[in-house]
Amino acid sequence: MCEVKLSEIHFSYNTNVAIDNISLTISQGDFVAVVGPNGAGKSTMLKIIAGLIKPTRGQVQIGGKDIFAAKEHGLIGYVPQNYGKNAQGFPATVKEVVALGLTLGVAAAKRNHQAVSHITNHMMELVGVDQLRDRRIGELSGGQQQRVMVAMALAANPQLLLLDEPTSGIDYDASARIYELLGTLNKNLGITIVMVSHDIEKAVSWANKVACINRKLCFFGSSKEFDDTHAQARHLWYYTGQ
Ligand code: ADP
Ligand code: MG
Repeated sequence: MCEVKLSEIHFSYNTNVAIDNISLTISQGDFVAVVGPNGAGKSTMLKIIAGLIKPTRGQVQIGGKDIFAAKEHGLIGYVPQNYGKNAQGFPATVKEVVALGLTLGVAAAKRNHQAVSHITNHMMELVGVDQLRDRRIGELSGGQQQRVMVAMALAANPQLLLLDEPTSGIDYDASARIYELLGTLNKNLGITIVMVSHDIEKAVSWANKVACINRKLCFFGSSKEFDDTHAQARHLWYYTGQ
């Protein structure tokens, strides 16, 4: 069970309020697109769900447990924004980066070399980067790097995968393949996905739910309802509905 429940979450960077009283529940198996204007607090909210930053007020529960217990159990995979830019010149190979993901899992210390190699190979195949296994990560295209990051996050066997703008700066075809990969992981493996995206039309077409945030929660519901009521009506994105 991996329900994500945010209750009255607030977050401020010093005096700058980034998240203002957001409550929502994401069910096991949901694929949620998080949309909203620049500076709306999307990345901040994802970091809160990942347990990387602590809300100023409010509570996050994952599968009924406090977020920090869930994090310790390796339930959460997180793919940060702008990975490609940070990876330039990073000397590790694809295989090594994916294997790093295993150190995040709960039983990491008990795995022997053979098990690490087996899981790493499996994850590289799953996301389609096995042909690139010995290439340096910094030499790959943005789309390839994102796939490697997804494989690294999956190596820890998470139940919840969080991705921050996984298709930013990536060309149209490679983006489509990333969405397709995430859709498959969600449908076939039942992994709950929360993805921040600028590419609203595409993201919403793959997701079953949409969270629109602009410091406050402007909308949370099915993609169909978002399409009907909010997708073309940007002024509603500035309205809390509460
Ligand atoms: P989004 O991902 O929707 O573009 P962010 O969550 O990155 O928005 O940022 C929300 C607000 O918090 C913005 O006003 C941003 O300038 C501010 N902010 C983000 N990160 C920091 C930080 N590390 N220190 C101070 N302010 C920050
Ligand atoms: Mg962001």
